[in-house]
Amino acid sequence: MALIKLLPAHEIQKIAAGEVVERPASVVKELLENSLDAGANHIVLYIEDGGKKRIRIIDNGCGMVYEDAHACLLPHATSKITSVHELAVVTTFGFRGEALAAIAAVSRMTLITRHVTQLDGNKLVVVAGSVEQESAVAANIGTDITIDDLFYNVPARRKFLKTDTTEWRAIQQLVYAYALDYPACTIELYHNNTTVINCQHAESLEQRIVQLFESPLTKQLINFNGTTDDDMTLAGVMAGYQYSRFDRSQIYIFVNNRWIKNHKLTAAVIKGYQNILPQGQYPFAAVSLAMPTNCVDINVHPRKEEVQFLHPRKVETFIQETIQRHLEQSLQKRVIQEQHRAIMPAVLPFIEDNQKETDIAQNKQFVPISYSNDLSHLIPIPQQQNVQKIEYGASALDVVTTGNKYSDDQQAVVSVAPLYRIIGQLDHTYILLETDEGLVMVDQHAAHERIMYEKIGAQQSAPESIQLLFPEIITLTKSDYEVICENISILASFGFDIEVWGNCQLRINATPLHVKQHMCKDIVATLITELIESQDAQVEAAVFAKKIHHALRALMACKAAIKAHDVLQEHEMLDLIKQLFVVPNRLTCPHGRPTSWLMATYEIEKKFKRII
Ligand code: ADP
Ligand code: MG
Repeated sequence: MALIKLLPAHEIQKIAAGEVVERPASVVKELLENSLDAGANHIVLYIEDGGKKRIRIIDNGCGMVYEDAHACLLPHATSKITSVHELAVVTTFGFRGEALAAIAAVSRMTLITRHVTQLDGNKLVVVAGSVEQESAVAANIGTDITIDDLFYNVPARRKFLKTDTTEWRAIQQLVYAYALDYPACTIELYHNNTTVINCQHAESLEQRIVQLFESPLTKQLINFNGTTDDDMTLAGVMAGYQYSRFDRSQIYIFVNNRWIKNHKLTAAVIKGYQNILPQGQYPFAAVSLAMPTNCVDINVHPRKEEVQFLHPRKVETFIQETIQRHLEQSLQKRVIQEQHRAIMPAVLPFIEDNQKETDIAQNKQFVPISYSNDLSHLIPIPQQQNVQKIEYGASALDVVTTGNKYSDDQQAVVSVAPLYRIIGQLDHTYILLETDEGLVMVDQHAAHERIMYEKIGAQQSAPESIQLLFPEIITLTKSDYEVICENISILASFGFDIEVWGNCQLRINATPLHVKQHMCKDIVATLITELIESQDAQVEAAVFAKKIHHALRALMACKAAIKAHDVLQEHEMLDLIKQLFVVPNRLTCPHGRPTSWLMATYEIEKKFKRII
């Protein structure tokens, strides 16, 4: 007996729906995109029980006439393209004409829509894809779609939905992304009758971010942009160094206005912060990439969440470098501002700019030192002078007084405060400082690593070398030897004098000044690892050079730096701290670990219950 049967149309539709509609968030995505495609500039979303019970979206877009309200429920019915050739130039989100049909097939849908040219609207009640009721109704111009009981007729799928909280989180993340993508669109989002987003029209992405997110993120935004010679442009807003999260959920990437998921581009954003954010911490960034439509394929994923690039590596490098450049510029600006502040004869900066005291109190937690409480403007307290406390609300600030309270001398000293004092070493690993902000703990190794890293990088030409009394001979495996022989010039650029020796051996005659003889083996080994990794990943030449440069600098810095548990004299600690205050990227070591933490006096007082 023949076993193969054709499935009935309604079953095919249910199966096809699974491709497009995976979970409530995918329904929200399709409906939101339809509203945006319809030119809406005001969208309201009501969600109940993570979207499992109800998803309702109301827009003020162009709406649909009676015939279209019916046609839109049919599979492959679209007003956006007429042939597949148009895909290359499509600028709308939708083009496959599948979404409404798919959603209607697996839910109870109520569609109310009124076209701009009509006086009345039409209402259709659709159950499992078939229109059960229809009527003319009074309605605003636009479309109002309600999806009830998603997957009520596909129990196997409904069973696989996650908890309400998880489904809701996915919806929320999606709506945030579109709110960032369309700052000009007014967006309201409600979940179980609570308001989650209520954003009016914003003039810019930055303004939208301020509407959506809270301080401290919104205090430290950096705008960035860039272009390439092949017509790619990048624009966006990202957080400064001071802000980070423990997940990647706030890295939003848009390609030609589409929110996409692409781990390589996300990684490129993170790499832009490498050297700055500690490992395991991630930034906020809304990155909008525009490129010629023929360089990107938007039709590779059933839910259009992913795209494929013609030159993916180029895109990644472009993102990473643009971000890195703007971060560096912003840091540079900050350093200059701080330097000005340090020498300006000004009133004591008890409170930053126009920050309220409560604001400060909230932020003064056990946090990595950030630029708002950066130490670059601090000076050591001269030992011979008196130290007096000036009370200001909950915080106390040490100032040096040399005479009468209001003498000219004091004015001069006061102008360069706040100050710091070295308390000592903890566990022969952390340098403890007293500052006007509280207790600062500096990891002596991480701090020195950063200092050395920047020093090694700052040299324009090959650094000074020292001749080794007894050359170091390194024996390698045949394959490692071959890899290194081709790249010996890299080590030469760092100040190594290396000769290729017979029998898989290298002879090192001279090393850079700060590299000790016993470190040579590790440095060569690191170079080999990096070379092999980069070859495997087929890294482009420019990226490759940077990677190698970073890895070698980081290793040399690490080897040359003071170690944890090294006993330091007070003058050595002072010297280290002084150098740290002026070095770029001083918040983290080259591997991304923090160099210093601040425990605010306020927090200490709270712990001791001096303040509640
Ligand atoms: P696609 O978006 O790929 O065209 P959909 O199934 O999502 O396919 O929508 C089918 C058609 O229904 C769209 O092409 C559009 O003409 C119409 N439509 C859907 N939603 C709306 C809306 N909110 N406002 C106006 N027209 C809409
Ligand atoms: Mg659509």
